[in-house]
Amino acid sequence: MRRSPYFLFLPSKTFIYYFLNKRIDFLTKESYNIAKVHFRGKGMNTYTLSLQLETKKSYDVIVCGGGVAGCAAAVSAAKNGASVLLLEKSNILGGLATLGLINLFVPMCNGRGKQIIFGLAEKWLRDSAKYGYDTIPNEWKNGEPTSPTNVRYVQRYSPYIFAMQLTEEVTAAGVDVLFDCSATRPVMDGKVCKGVITESKSGTELYACKVLIDTTGDADIMRRSGIPVLTRGNFFTFATKMITLDSCKHAIEANDIGKAFSYFHGGNINLWGDNQPKDVPLWTGLTVEEVTDYIITNHKLVLDKLKKTDRNTREIAMMPLMPQFRATCCLQGDYVFSEKDVYKHFDDSIAAINDFEHRDYLYEVPLRALTRREYPNIITAGRSASGEGYGWDLIRVIPPAIITGQAAGEVACQSLKENKPVASVCIKTLQNKLEKENVMVHFPDSYVPEDKTFIIHGKNASKIVGGHF
Ligand SMILES: Cc1cc2nc3c(=O)[nH]c(=O)nc-3n(C[C@H](O)[C@H](O)[C@H](O)COP(=O)(O)OP(=O)(O)OC[C@H]3O[C@@H](n4cnc5c(N)ncnc54)[C@H](O)[C@@H]3O)c2cc1C
Repeated sequence: MRRSPYFLFLPSKTFIYYFLNKRIDFLTKESYNIAKVHFRGKGMNTYTLSLQLETKKSYDVIVCGGGVAGCAAAVSAAKNGASVLLLEKSNILGGLATLGLINLFVPMCNGRGKQIIFGLAEKWLRDSAKYGYDTIPNEWKNGEPTSPTNVRYVQRYSPYIFAMQLTEEVTAAGVDVLFDCSATRPVMDGKVCKGVITESKSGTELYACKVLIDTTGDADIMRRSGIPVLTRGNFFTFATKMITLDSCKHAIEANDIGKAFSYFHGGNINLWGDNQPKDVPLWTGLTVEEVTDYIITNHKLVLDKLKKTDRNTREIAMMPLMPQFRATCCLQGDYVFSEKDVYKHFDDSIAAINDFEHRDYLYEVPLRALTRREYPNIITAGRSASGEGYGWDLIRVIPPAIITGQAAGEVACQSLKENKPVASVCIKTLQNKLEKENVMVHFPDSYVPEDKTFIIHGKNASKIVGGHF
């Protein structure tokens, strides 16, 4: 791929002095890959961590976070010929959709039998029913129904089997994956991202990239690059999966293993925060103390409930191994997507999506919700795409997360080919490409009802946060 002025390579011998929480500079000195901690000043309160890192490997695209959005971005970039590294801090792919036990594709249709979300979301919904359980409604088993129906197109799947399918999918696409490997910091040269620092069994390492895709779900890497972000509090939600002797009998009778599992909750507060206990805070999920408080509170609650049941009759079969926070932190993008964008066409739409709660409501996601113009080679997708209030909920759920991930991967490659910042790629070329990949870029006006009045949900206001911390 041609090199753009924006995508300068790191020199082959590049080393970084890394001053904790302060600055990252490029130096070209002798290399060694050992962290040295210097204690300075009076007492032990201040210290400087200095690292000298040699670039381990250079990629066209680095994707930080292997949730469904990150997997889609990685696959899409790799299929377009880019060299891609996918960094995942846990041991399985899928994020909330697997590790977090959120194993339901919300509706991908308009509630009248017309499918809206296609592309990789359609492929992965169908794939998830191949080897795990298939709960696709009969009306949708063979694709879009031939006559109108209010039965919606959903699929509850096996989270762990789907996770292994994602591993198969990304590796088959030629993506390099690193598990148990956290992306800790972007390496910034002004507003241009040169690479990512990682922490894993191998220690602290540096990977260089031309485009960075932040799909950490919490906008972790974007936040650390200084991009402005939006944050929001989270309700008290924690769902494990339980099996009981009775549910096993029920599954045997129905010859359906999926029926053996049911949700067993710690906090059980819905999307709207109904009945949120007054003494439980709205966690932002953005500090280690809050994450820990969330986990301890919920573990205690689940255990207390279990203590009251017969230990021979039930088992917690699966625990959410990442916090079930719906929306923590997202990009404050060139456009902040909101529910008020209902029925609006955008010239730079990358995908049509539908409301998962209400029929008819249709939306388009503009490319500007994934980018911030001043940052030429950083793009996002999924839970960290730019949205507010219920609009954020609309773009973060599994099908839109996949479809925005697919678009982000495309954009990353196109920016390299066109030698342009991610926010400035040729929209027509992008849309044509996405349409060839079975994405509905614009919803048809014939799907818009005559009565366009809609309920504004807006219980959860987002608040703007500066950027750096
Ligand atoms: C309680 C709850 C109920 C929900 N219900 C539904 C539902 O029924 N249906 C539906 O479609 N959606 C639902 N959702 C939403 C949906 O699950 C998520 O929004 C969607 O899966 C987000 O995907 P993502 O890839 O953007 O982010 P995530 O799933 O958050 O993935 C982020 C990934 O990045 C990794 N990561 C994070 N930081 C780093 C780092 N620094 N380095 C490396 N890796 C990192 C994480 O381990 C994770 O794998 C629900 C969410 C919640 C919390």
